[in-house]
Amino acid sequence: MSPLLAAATLAWPPPLRSLRQIFRLRYSKAPSNSAAARGVWHNNVQLDNGQHILLGCYHQTLQLIEQVGGNVEHDFLRLPLQLTLHNRFELKAPHLPAPLHLLVGLFSAKGLSFGERLRAARFMLALRHINFTLLHDISVFELLRMHGQSDGLIRLLWEPLCISALNTPMHIASAQVLLNVLRDSLNGVRNDSDMLLPRIDFTALFPERAAEYVKQHRGTVLTACSVEAIIPNGDEIRLTTRQTALSTAHTELFSHVICAASPISAARLFHTVPQLALIAGQIAAIPYQPIYTVYLQYPEHVCLPHAMLGLDRCFAQWLFDKGQISEQRGLIAAVISAQGKHQNLKHELLAQKVAQELCEQLGIREAPVWHKVIAEKRATFSCETNLLRPAHTTQIANVLLAGDYVAGEYPATLESAVMSGMLCAGTILAAFNH
Ligand SMILES: Cc1cc2nc3c(=O)[nH]c(=O)nc-3n(C[C@H](O)[C@H](O)[C@H](O)COP(=O)(O)OP(=O)(O)OC[C@H]3O[C@@H](n4cnc5c(N)ncnc54)[C@H](O)[C@@H]3O)c2cc1C
Repeated sequence: MSPLLAAATLAWPPPLRSLRQIFRLRYSKAPSNSAAARGVWHNNVQLDNGQHILLGCYHQTLQLIEQVGGNVEHDFLRLPLQLTLHNRFELKAPHLPAPLHLLVGLFSAKGLSFGERLRAARFMLALRHINFTLLHDISVFELLRMHGQSDGLIRLLWEPLCISALNTPMHIASAQVLLNVLRDSLNGVRNDSDMLLPRIDFTALFPERAAEYVKQHRGTVLTACSVEAIIPNGDEIRLTTRQTALSTAHTELFSHVICAASPISAARLFHTVPQLALIAGQIAAIPYQPIYTVYLQYPEHVCLPHAMLGLDRCFAQWLFDKGQISEQRGLIAAVISAQGKHQNLKHELLAQKVAQELCEQLGIREAPVWHKVIAEKRATFSCETNLLRPAHTTQIANVLLAGDYVAGEYPATLESAVMSGMLCAGTILAAFNH
């Protein structure tokens, strides 16, 4: 999700015109295709760099997709809350209002003893009682133990949930951030816990449409153009940019700058500005976690029993049947989130192991026609207990910071990226309205 400057400004269409007279809407994107969510071509097939799932509670992202011309009901496959670990565990929320749907789902979950189901439901009620807020942040594992969650419950329910939501192992993951996600997804209205799987590739889903929207509103979008320096210049900010195709650098003055680059680029850009050196250090210290996606193309008739299916104690944590999601028949995406022993394997071997798991677990005996492993080594920040995340404002009032890693309630998600962009846009508009 790259065009955050655009995203931030799109949220406020009415004042956009007056705002643009003072501050020309510009969005610039680095030449390397480095966005965290993006389409990738392989073997003439459109893949995503990773399977993205949105939750029904990602209201700001979903609203923004609609605002730039998307249609959430067409663009996504909507799955009501259901977690299935093949032959091990199944939680299916019935058509009841929240949070009853979850409680009944937990009570009727398959693969847990009666005592475990009771403990899981009690845990959820205890979380509601404290309004999903802890006095002090602790690790997810500590929280689960404090609430008497057994090994089986942790392994089949909470660990897969924690890894998929926070992309961080539960012994270091922030319990408070997990509770924020549980509060908004499981404790709101029923649709908030729905899982939405994009039917189209990510570049088409949002950035292309957003860029078009910006142009239609007389903004400028520069692609293949990286910002090389941010230089305070009196009350204004001078940006030095470089187009890939041109060797010469270009400089231009702006009233405000929202830096929505990846944390690595943001730290590099801020580092050379004395007033921003402290925040640059804070950004540079952020730890990361990987996400690996193993795409296996099988003959077209191969499919999974569900569009999304978990595996227990396998390299592949979640499988996605792209035939059911985006009509890419026979294409299976296996997702492996967070650090682990898979990182020590060569891609070729990892793909073989995942294919073997599909054979053993699901009886898919055909060999894949091709495979592609996409390893995002710094996919997201490691969402650890008490992690210091930078604020969206900086020591320079008209330089702001947006991105999924900026201080907020959510882990590294599309929603946290969009929310921080909105916050920056709101801050700039408030300054203009004074
Ligand atoms: C494999 C994978 C799976 C994921 N799955 C999910 C999921 O299921 N659900 C979910 O909500 N989130 C998921 N995420 C996280 C989600 O993709 C990110 O949280 C989100 O895309 C972050 O958006 P962003 O705008 O903060 O950063 P980015 O998308 O990283 O955008 C930063 C942009 O800045 C540009 N840039 C960098 N340097 C410069 C420069 N010097 N000048 C100009 N531009 C520059 C880059 O080219 C890039 O376009 C996943 C991420 C990965 C990698």
